[in-house]
Amino acid sequence: MTTKELICVNCPMGCRVKVEMEGQTILSVSGYTCPRGKEYAEQECVRPMRILTSTVRILNGEHRVLPVITNADIPLDLMTEAMDVIRGITVEAPVEADQVLVHDLLHTGADVIASRSMRRAGH
Ligand code: SF4
Repeated sequence: MTTKELICVNCPMGCRVKVEMEGQTILSVSGYTCPRGKEYAEQECVRPMRILTSTVRILNGEHRVLPVITNADIPLDLMTEAMDVIRGITVEAPVEADQVLVHDLLHTGADVIASRSMRRAGH
């Protein structure tokens, strides 16, 4: 049996949550104050999720790259594959903030969206 201790990041209380596991099976979770802490700790131990932020190439934009972000967490173990997708993207200005650039990234349900708007160069 292994014991993991995590600090819940869902609110400033920062509860210390303890998870006891046997392989990938969760045996017990303790130390959380509300259900969000339990859910966070279980997810973090079984399949951690993160927001991905990066940049993509943009043609005719006022800058050479456009900041992008996923609009939901994606599994941490898919980050390398997700970055391969993002490196393959080239968009063309103008782009609006929150514009969807990749729908349902790697079937995660998360979209890659523009973090900001960008005009065409010289406009
Ligand atoms: S378990 Fe609940 S109260 Fe504790 S840090 Fe997480 S969200 Fe906040």
